[in-house]
Amino acid sequence: MNNQKKITVTSPLLPPLEEFIPYLEDIWKRKWITNNGHYHQELEKALCEYLKVPYLSLFTNGTLPIMVALQALRITGEVITTPYSFVATTHSLWWNGIKPVFVDIDPKTGNIDPDKIEAAITPKTTAIMPVHVYGNPCDTEKIKNIADTYGLKVIYDAAHSFGVEVSGKSILNEGDLSTLSFHATKTYNTIEGGALICHDAETKKRIDYLKNFGFAGETTVVAPGINGKMDEVRAAYGLVSLNYVDDAIAKRKEVAQQYREALKNIAGITVFEDFENVKHNYSYFPILVNEELYGLTRDELYKKLKANNIFSRRYFYPLISNFSTYRGLPSANKDNLPVANRIADTVICLPIHHEISKDDLNRIIEKIVR
Ligand SMILES: *Cc1c(COP(=O)(O)O)cnc(C)c1O
Repeated sequence: MNNQKKITVTSPLLPPLEEFIPYLEDIWKRKWITNNGHYHQELEKALCEYLKVPYLSLFTNGTLPIMVALQALRITGEVITTPYSFVATTHSLWWNGIKPVFVDIDPKTGNIDPDKIEAAITPKTTAIMPVHVYGNPCDTEKIKNIADTYGLKVIYDAAHSFGVEVSGKSILNEGDLSTLSFHATKTYNTIEGGALICHDAETKKRIDYLKNFGFAGETTVVAPGINGKMDEVRAAYGLVSLNYVDDAIAKRKEVAQQYREALKNIAGITVFEDFENVKHNYSYFPILVNEELYGLTRDELYKKLKANNIFSRRYFYPLISNFSTYRGLPSANKDNLPVANRIADTVICLPIHHEISKDDLNRIIEKIVR
């Protein structure tokens, strides 16, 4: 078979082991290994500073902050959301007994099309849950206008948007709440982990109760909370890694620029360009494959890369609205979501991470260009 080096779509940003070990020794000395420990508090502070946000609560993964965000704002009924995301976005609604209402996406960004939101609002709608997919910023101003007009909350699933800024301002301050994922596959990771970002101390207090079973004191439970707590080992890991994330993003940017340069004149391959005034994090490198112009279908290209030990991913395929749990919903109808279905059927995310070498890149590009 193929004995060329395996190129994966992503590679976790690991803290240097020799730097991490003293932290472990300190945790062993402290004997405080979870429940808002020393490094947990340090990491919350460091992330607020790095991300330019006022309040942030750490979580043990990136799905729980979405579920807790819905509880914190007491969201019920129907929530308008995008089908073009990772399943956790919609699953979090379902776990809260909320009916997802899918709205089609804008082909320029991959994000929910704000011009189609109003038509999906009913008397049961209580919130909008968009995703900044690939870290591409949503049209937050238009979404805010709609939300304000109809009295709706806005929760951004910002799992892909670590460090993304628009005109020098963090995208994570948009909406009522924003969530992050620090899963191993993301630009910045704590192995498993996540966070919920809010605007005021009262809301943070409520979120911190909710992620600790609802405990507001030794004998007081104020809400049906859950266990969302991050432990000390992963908080320390995250603290060390944070010093390396800027370099990793810079490396990803170089990879993205080289892909764009190499693929710009290939008929049937479309890349996303950077947006004006946006500081991107280059978390993904999606391309769209037009079979007629390119000569291969998306799946044929995907398999060709795989046969050459190059592992791309079809993010996001299948569309969430086409999974068995959701496909019976009226809004999941393909006629309601033509753009999302077309993009899901033609997208490939190429390998992009801090360890892609010049040789790796040449090998990938060669296989796409032919
Ligand atoms: C990764 C991801 C999540 C879930 O995060 P986990 O940390 O894996 O639980 C949620 N939403 C989106 C869009 C994601 O990509």
